[in-house]
Amino acid sequence: MSEFERSSERAKELRDLLNYHSHKYYVEDNPEIEDFEYDRMMRELSDIEDKFPELVTPDSPTRRVGGSADGQFTPVEHAVRMESLQDAFSLDELRAFDKRVKEVEPNATYVVEPKIDGLSVSLEYENGVFKRGSTRGDGVIGEDVSANLCTVGSIPLRLKRELDEIEVRGEVYMPREVFMKLVEQQENNEEKPFKNPRNAAAGSLRQKDPKITAKRHLDIFVFNIQRINGKVLTGHKQSLDYIKELGFKTIPFYTPCTNIEKAIKEVERIGEIRGTLPFDIDGAVIKVDSFEHREALGSTSKFPKWAIAFKYPPEEKQTKVVDIEINVGRTGVLTPTAVFEPVMVAGSLISRATLHNQDFITEKDIRIGDTVTIRKAGDIIPEVLNVVEHSGSSLPYVMPSVCPSCGAKVVREEGEAAVRCLNTDCPAQLLRNLIHFCSRDAMDIEGLGESNIELFVNSGLIKTPADIYALKQEQIVPLERMAEQSANNLVAAINESKKNDLSKLVFALGIRHVGQKAAKLLSERFGTMTALMNASFDEIMTIDGFGAIMAKSVVEYFNMPESIELIDKLMAAGLNMKSLKEVKDMRFAGKTFVLTGTLPTYKRSEAAEIIESFGGKTASSVSKKTDFVLAGEEAGSKLQKANDLGIKVISEDEFREMIK
Ligand code: NAD
Repeated sequence: MSEFERSSERAKELRDLLNYHSHKYYVEDNPEIEDFEYDRMMRELSDIEDKFPELVTPDSPTRRVGGSADGQFTPVEHAVRMESLQDAFSLDELRAFDKRVKEVEPNATYVVEPKIDGLSVSLEYENGVFKRGSTRGDGVIGEDVSANLCTVGSIPLRLKRELDEIEVRGEVYMPREVFMKLVEQQENNEEKPFKNPRNAAAGSLRQKDPKITAKRHLDIFVFNIQRINGKVLTGHKQSLDYIKELGFKTIPFYTPCTNIEKAIKEVERIGEIRGTLPFDIDGAVIKVDSFEHREALGSTSKFPKWAIAFKYPPEEKQTKVVDIEINVGRTGVLTPTAVFEPVMVAGSLISRATLHNQDFITEKDIRIGDTVTIRKAGDIIPEVLNVVEHSGSSLPYVMPSVCPSCGAKVVREEGEAAVRCLNTDCPAQLLRNLIHFCSRDAMDIEGLGESNIELFVNSGLIKTPADIYALKQEQIVPLERMAEQSANNLVAAINESKKNDLSKLVFALGIRHVGQKAAKLLSERFGTMTALMNASFDEIMTIDGFGAIMAKSVVEYFNMPESIELIDKLMAAGLNMKSLKEVKDMRFAGKTFVLTGTLPTYKRSEAAEIIESFGGKTASSVSKKTDFVLAGEEAGSKLQKANDLGIKVISEDEFREMIK
């Protein structure tokens, strides 16, 4: 095969791969590979295309900026194109960039700033007032996400200075701490967690409901003026200083550098501190400062020639596995965790990483005593990449065959990678269950966090969730760390939780496969705990979003005598067992009513309201599509037409019967 043929085949393969991963990343917010790997493939394809321009296809990913809008929001045509950046993976590439710049502008100087790993948005202001905010999209057309951007506290809705018109560009991101909390919550709720802060930010910004966006605590760094009317600026640093005065939260540091070597030093410095920043960065950007110089340098179809992004490789470190610990989760799953000799990776001290299950351990052949390479996936979650070497005496690691907490034999169910302890009395499971029961998204009992629950369990005061509601102030006071006031607060919080909506209680029960969303659907569909307990598999299956595994798990849970006993006790303790959300009765769904004549007691508007509250519609004229004509005294032509078309005519009395 000639070099050309090989390149042609490889180019096709890379195009397919890049398109696949780009969809996963931009549309699904669920990447499967590291950005660094994606960038490498992009680079390989672009190198092939440079060498053999005839291999460039019109739809090559190298020609595209970002993703495309998926039609959820109103499209916005950007007045100034939102370009991408050329990237560099070595310092020599930065020097080559400098050479290209200096050929056009020998006196150019630079500004270096961190490259925030979020998603790009444009913010438009008119007469100092926020007018519109949009995503980058493909750089030419983005999506109007103004309502969601308004929930980002650091975006000014009014500028501090008078100004005719300005459009700025910034990066919306999720602070690391917010991300960690969100993932913890998602894991607790058995929802699929976001992979990294960037995907979490993108997913949060493109929510249909701004209330959800608001809860995600996004933030922004503004790094560019796209266009401005009413003020003259000549350089990048000056413009960043100016937008700071306008009230924008600008990129946290931007350093002027008179030459490329100084710029490189700054890039290296940012690389060293990157792990200690409270937000994620995936590189540093070197930009030509003077706007006049930028103008002379121009742009390609994809990026400006006056800027370049240096991308940092993910940091990898070697360390020793000193132990493998087994934790027993709420549903009895045994999870192995590697304990390391602590080592600094990307800014934090790492001493543990999950090993998921036996398959993962076997595939990588991870043993106690091994030296392994670790890194932080998506720069956040520690993971073992591979084994560097086994220690002399090590043996392959095998997960225990009995539960480390209660000694019961563990089982591996068909089709599952996990092994599980099935003993419902297992102390480790009971503890995790109690922690889950009291957690924020479940019964939300303030004061009953992990350590206090352990305290109560160890002192023999609680064993099951029902015991929580039997706790007395005088039993709590003598315990370690407790006093009169804290005991009072705790009892009050426990009592307060009795009023919770049924959905919180259903979630708190910890039924396998029932996360927060499923619990809500169950409680809305059945309305009361008793109705839910009596629900059949088929009835549960009618809920949109429920599959056989979930439905089976719910039925099985409510068939267990210990579940019934627990719920009986909770009922006796006075917990609310009803859905507080009005149960929607959709008995008139799909039915159309026409009202005519004077009804004996209802006004027509009242009757119409009732029909709509049951999911029905009203129309002003009778047609074949009408289902009922509700007729009162002196009904005229509509009644006649109904009779002609054979449509059912009902009186107010009959209507009252129907809505009973
Ligand atoms: P890019 O991320 O390489 O660079 C351009 C972006 O950087 C701009 O949109 C801008 O918003 C942002 N930026 C942040 N701080 C900036 C600053 N101070 N100055 C200027 N710009 C700044 O380019 P891209 O086109 O957005 O590339 C997509 C990124 O998405 C790449 O990093 C790629 O790895 C990643 N990606 C990953 C996958 C995957 O499967 N892992 C798939 C597709 C894309």
